[in-house]
Amino acid sequence: MLRSRLPTLSLALFACLALAPQPPAFAAQPPAKPRLVVLISIDQFRADYLRRFEDLFLPPATKKGVGGFRYLTERGAYHTDAHHDHFPTYTGPGHSILLTGATPYLSGIVGNDWFDRDLGRERYCVEDPESPLVGTAKKGGVSPTTLRVTTVGDELKMATGGQAKVWGIALKDRAAVLMAGHLADGVLWFDNETGAWISSRYYRKDGSLPKWVADWNGAKKIDPVFGQSWKPSAPKEAFARVWNPKNEFVSASVGLGSSFGENGHPITGGLDKPGKDFYRAFTTTPLANEYVLDSALELIAQEKLGQDAIPDILAINLSSNDYIGHTYGPDSAEVLDATYRTDRALSDFFNSLAKKVSGGLANLTIVLSADHGVAPIVGEAQRAGFHAGVYVDSVLQKLAEDALDAAFGPADWVLALSEDNLYLNLETLKAKGVEAAKAEEVAATALASSPGIYAAYTREQALHGQLPQTEIGRRIARSFHPRRSGEVMIVPEPFWVPGGLNGATHGTPYSYDTSVPVLLAGAGIRPGVYTQKVSTLDIAPTLSYLLGILNPSGCEGHVLSHAVR
Ligand SMILES: [Zn+2]
Repeated sequence: MLRSRLPTLSLALFACLALAPQPPAFAAQPPAKPRLVVLISIDQFRADYLRRFEDLFLPPATKKGVGGFRYLTERGAYHTDAHHDHFPTYTGPGHSILLTGATPYLSGIVGNDWFDRDLGRERYCVEDPESPLVGTAKKGGVSPTTLRVTTVGDELKMATGGQAKVWGIALKDRAAVLMAGHLADGVLWFDNETGAWISSRYYRKDGSLPKWVADWNGAKKIDPVFGQSWKPSAPKEAFARVWNPKNEFVSASVGLGSSFGENGHPITGGLDKPGKDFYRAFTTTPLANEYVLDSALELIAQEKLGQDAIPDILAINLSSNDYIGHTYGPDSAEVLDATYRTDRALSDFFNSLAKKVSGGLANLTIVLSADHGVAPIVGEAQRAGFHAGVYVDSVLQKLAEDALDAAFGPADWVLALSEDNLYLNLETLKAKGVEAAKAEEVAATALASSPGIYAAYTREQALHGQLPQTEIGRRIARSFHPRRSGEVMIVPEPFWVPGGLNGATHGTPYSYDTSVPVLLAGAGIRPGVYTQKVSTLDIAPTLSYLLGILNPSGCEGHVLSHAVR
């Protein structure tokens, strides 16, 4: 019938019919929401570690369960060229980005510390005297009130009438707080002095810890580690790839010793019984990661995360990789061994997690990233012949002060150099009738002339779109907050750091500091190896999509659409 009628149709009508939209066989719809999102940030975990050490990792899955990193890279979405897009690359800003998708120019988290003009002094990024600590005799207070944008957790709480559960846990307060956000049910961090999980009144209005946390603390689970040693776990031949096997530019603190040696790193803190320096030594070993993940499993069980159809979020930071990396450097046997053990710890964690959430890993979305990478140890880099070096903050501050004295007459021109921000004394400028833009330029020219400083940019440039159209210029634009940033921002040269020749650090806009993993696996994720450049800003909107909620308020990332179902 159809065939016989065809010749009678005009060609135009035939074309129209052929192009008419056909109803799809299946309705297009977003993937089912995960029961639980677990975001794991590994502090100072540079993306290249995933390949450098891949032969040392457990297989992605066996009959016994899933592996660690390779479960994520081979059964999940592995982005091989993922970067942070802000500056400076410190812990506070790095963590503030992972679940907000917002850079510092909006979030306000311009550093671990900055100069607070209202307080008239430097401040810490999550410091809040109005939210005293809970669970410790230590003074001080902590909250997320400096974070001027919402997190994925905040949006999830609002979207579910508060029914979704949102938690954060980490050794470092700033990591846990800046990921979990404002509406979190609870955030726990580590008290170095007592080895206890603590919180603040912001999250615990009644000033007490949850009973299970108090019980866990009371059990003193870390103390049996006292007197043990951290000895290498990775196979001996694995260490042949270590670039700095001798640890010549290492000055280990809290009695850990500068290399594995015969007896490994003793975990006593140089004390005769558990105390502050012991807990600090403990946090600079892979055992602390295992402890954090064990505590996270208890949190999931006690707070009943992932138990119903309303999705929950748990944000975890493994901070020990950063403490170990700072002390021994990225090219040390210690970082290799810590990475090896982190892989095993993640595998154990994933397999326990699978049992705790109904439907197992298929109902969970796991995301793994990092707050920043790290530079090689400066002493080692210099010896290798790289243009590497050290600058001293107080010297830079004096350089600016002297230049301003020379240009406008002696006065107190500079308030502080806080991380990469130089703050000028605005009262002096006013009293002397000096135009801010002129003073900024004088200070910036002086700072940029210092060895190790690549460039110095002014507030005037940032506010008026006059930053250079380079990757660094764009990073500064994304990171300059009008109320919190200084009058001048300095950018070091590659491999130049504030401080000393020993140990390693991070903070620059260069690939070694910006390059971090972005791995996603489980519910809603399309596995694959994705080589296109992506941003850590993309994690938050991707999770918002999977959770079916609004993007966080300052989010400027994009959904990783290739990586979702
Ligand atoms: Zn660090």
